[in-house]
Amino acid sequence: MPGRAIPAPDQEMIRNAITDGAIRHLLHEEDPRLRNFRLCNACGSCTPYCPARINDPGANGDPGYLARRVTAALQAGRRPGLDLAECVQCYSCETVCPRSVSIGGIINAVYETERLQPVFRRMLLDRGGLPPRAFLPLYTGRGHLRKFIAKAIRYPYPADGRAIDEARRLLLRPVDASAFSVPGHLPLRQPLARPDRVFHLNSCCAFNYPGADLSQKMILAALGIRYETSRMQTCCGGAPHYMGGAGFADRLLLTARNLSVIHDAFEPGGEIAVTGICPTCSDSYAAALDVLSHNANREVVNEALARIGREVTDPGAFSVANVLDLYPLYLDELRRLVETRLTGLAVGVHVSCHYRKMNGTLAVPPGLQDLTAVTGAKITRSVMEHYCCGGVKNLFDRHRNGRPGELSRLNRLVRRDFMNRRLDVMVVDCPGCELVYDHMGVPVLHITELLALAMGADPRETVCIQGHLTSLSPALDRIGIR
Ligand code: SF4
Ligand code: SF4
Repeated sequence: MPGRAIPAPDQEMIRNAITDGAIRHLLHEEDPRLRNFRLCNACGSCTPYCPARINDPGANGDPGYLARRVTAALQAGRRPGLDLAECVQCYSCETVCPRSVSIGGIINAVYETERLQPVFRRMLLDRGGLPPRAFLPLYTGRGHLRKFIAKAIRYPYPADGRAIDEARRLLLRPVDASAFSVPGHLPLRQPLARPDRVFHLNSCCAFNYPGADLSQKMILAALGIRYETSRMQTCCGGAPHYMGGAGFADRLLLTARNLSVIHDAFEPGGEIAVTGICPTCSDSYAAALDVLSHNANREVVNEALARIGREVTDPGAFSVANVLDLYPLYLDELRRLVETRLTGLAVGVHVSCHYRKMNGTLAVPPGLQDLTAVTGAKITRSVMEHYCCGGVKNLFDRHRNGRPGELSRLNRLVRRDFMNRRLDVMVVDCPGCELVYDHMGVPVLHITELLALAMGADPRETVCIQGHLTSLSPALDRIGIR
């Protein structure tokens, strides 16, 4: 009957029928993100670190929360009771799980099967990544349109039209995730050696913090590290993937295409270290290199890349040089490069979840503290270092739902911790975390920005502090940086 509303119980039944069908499809297709879910023995190790659980006060004191809602549901052939709207895609669950079960990956796979996020998908097809306008609601929602316009004019989207066309041709003929096999555990990563040359990635999120990108280039130059960039590089697919706009295989193909671009940017032979300011990018490359190290996976990827005349031949030639691994190799040089010690600046440090995901441990690595200490800033530690900041995905969701100022419970915990410790600034390794802190009214600097300030960079021209939403001036004025 036209126009008749479907009664709520029927709607629920239809929804369940669709989603249970999706689960059967996923299980049948053996999506790599679901493959080891049967190993979950409901130990509960993941639950205390899950922001989704923190955001659900009813789950406090319930160690089986995630296992019951996700892995046990799958084992019974039902849809997991947690969806992408609740999960912030931090992957703390995967990182901490002794059996390498990825609750976040399962939720991502279910969401991908049910519906990709059309708005982010469209941007990937139109622009090969997240262009500035992807972030526009985050500025207009808080009355910062002028800052957005100033950045959009001065820092235009960097990808070349030919690169966007190649990315589009890849994405328009999707490859099924089940075509790939991934190991159930992370391979041991080789310790990074001082590289002769690096490729510096343009990160989509750098639009919000151009100072982090400019500072990174300044530091590389000051350390005498030769770096290349390319306008043929597009988004790695990481951020859209975690926000539901790119599937598992889409992200892999986009990253693999970029590896081919990076390879072309250097003369043949030798190792190529891939750096950048974003740990989500680092994780995309580390994960892709792992998948591509298997011949069967590489054949599938190269078959798709052949459509655009590209190929990845030697994944072993690449290494991932995240700033938290790269710059600690140069601590003595950095100390000598410091012109203005930031003595008197009280800072907290927050290491991103995706950096820890890449390394397979929730332990807080020393890199960020060591680099911060080089500047002379005073670090105050906190138990909150082990937690997600609240996540970029949650930030986008709030704006999309018309509640930009409504902080999640985790956001409120993080902000209260900052205030209780009487800090001036938070220091982070991720432009996504930077965006989250900035949006909750916490002055924040990317580690590259902090280092550049100590090395005498112009706060406005290079570090672009005027582009931050929460003013850094009170903290920096106090220590004589204007
Ligand atoms: S997913 Fe892993 S950490 Fe979480 S309950 Fe299952 S086995 Fe334990
Ligand atoms: S990815 Fe993060 S938010 Fe999602 S279930 Fe895992 S720990 Fe929770």
